[in-house]
Amino acid sequence: MPPLRFYNTLTQEVQPFEPLEGNVVKMYTCGPTVYDFAHIGNFRTFVFYDVLRRWLRASGYVLDHVMNITDVDDKIIRNAVAQGKTLNEYTDAYTKAFLDDCATLRLERAEHIARATDHIDEMAAAIRKLEAAGYTYTSDGSIYFRIAKFPEYGKLSHNDFTGMVAGARVDVDEYEKSDARDFALWKAPKPGEPNWETEIGPGRPGWHIECSVMAIQYLGATLDLHAGGVDLIFPHHENEIAQSECLTGKQFARFWVHSEFLLVEGQKMSKSLGNFYTLRDLFEKGFTAESIRYLLASVPYRKGLNFTLEGLTSAKTAIERVRNFKFRLDSAKLPEGENPEIAQHGARAIAEFRAAMDDDLNTAEALGAVFEFLRDANSALDAGDFLAGNLETAQSLLALFDLVFDVLKYAEKTDDASTEEVEQLIAARTAAKKARDFTLADGIRNELLGKGVVLEDTRDGVRWKRK
Ligand SMILES: [Zn+2]
Repeated sequence: MPPLRFYNTLTQEVQPFEPLEGNVVKMYTCGPTVYDFAHIGNFRTFVFYDVLRRWLRASGYVLDHVMNITDVDDKIIRNAVAQGKTLNEYTDAYTKAFLDDCATLRLERAEHIARATDHIDEMAAAIRKLEAAGYTYTSDGSIYFRIAKFPEYGKLSHNDFTGMVAGARVDVDEYEKSDARDFALWKAPKPGEPNWETEIGPGRPGWHIECSVMAIQYLGATLDLHAGGVDLIFPHHENEIAQSECLTGKQFARFWVHSEFLLVEGQKMSKSLGNFYTLRDLFEKGFTAESIRYLLASVPYRKGLNFTLEGLTSAKTAIERVRNFKFRLDSAKLPEGENPEIAQHGARAIAEFRAAMDDDLNTAEALGAVFEFLRDANSALDAGDFLAGNLETAQSLLALFDLVFDVLKYAEKTDDASTEEVEQLIAARTAAKKARDFTLADGIRNELLGKGVVLEDTRDGVRWKRK
């Protein structure tokens, strides 16, 4: 049995995961709706996708991953119209900002980034097919999916929709559970709104059909894994299943994996509370992308995450601990031999890290294994008991850590330090060491490393070079 397992929202069980065919994982993740800058709650989900991708690859799989960009929906049209912009003028800027933010957070790119408006004809063709099979009806120029024709409706959200009023309709893209009604596949043109001329007439797609059509177009009828935030389970993913399974007659996705909500300082994020953070807001407060990435990745995706500024500060400290340890390993002159206790602990930490990640991506437990080893290894280094033969295992653990968390390398700085600045910082560090303020000394050394300057302590004083 494969060791890797995920909680599947569809079956409500933790299940061993394997792709259907060979070692290629066909995966679809719901991307952003580009109507504004993405906020930290959105990025929790995107960091989860990234951790998922990285661990699937670490498990030996090859990814065929599609993420959509929703660049037409109710909110976008409302905002674009209000600002007197075309749809493209409005969405291009936010699409670019989103992709830049993802790169800053070191999120791996999906193999396919699919923009909804590039696939309108395929959506119209799919709606025509649903129409021909009797799953739809038309009212005032809009086309609705008749959910009474799909008896399995509700199987993902585990809602019982019996007794629902047949023929009741909902036109908006987002709605509550209690509003489970026939939803719009295609919306009739309205004055002042963008619309497309297609084989099913003029109009624009509803949000849900976008994902079904692009997923099937790139990956085929059955996906190995579909992921998103829990807020998408209903109605979005429920509707995706209904449309897709009625289109192909096959199961749409074998695994449905959902990340939990994020709170900020214990409260629901909202603009009025002033706890609504974009990455830009957090950079302005002096936090780094590495700290944000680490904090978001460190809480297992199925646990609610309370995002606090204090948490970001702790994340920074945690990253520095690992960086400092790595620096010690890279620079120490170790005595020959191998310390068997450290060797055993290193091997155990690697095994524990893997086991935790295999267990539904338990990142918190994986980190626990790393820090426990660091404590031990740092003490051994202090005591001179960490030997040359222990280096490889320790480096392997760090490599495994960074494969998932990817926070050890410093963000590229454009402001290369001048020689004068380097000499000043080295003098400050030497003074800090003399005053036995090793935290400050380490901090300065790391700051220099961040500027691409490597220090080496020798008997004749400090030597430095640019990386
Ligand atoms: Zn979607």
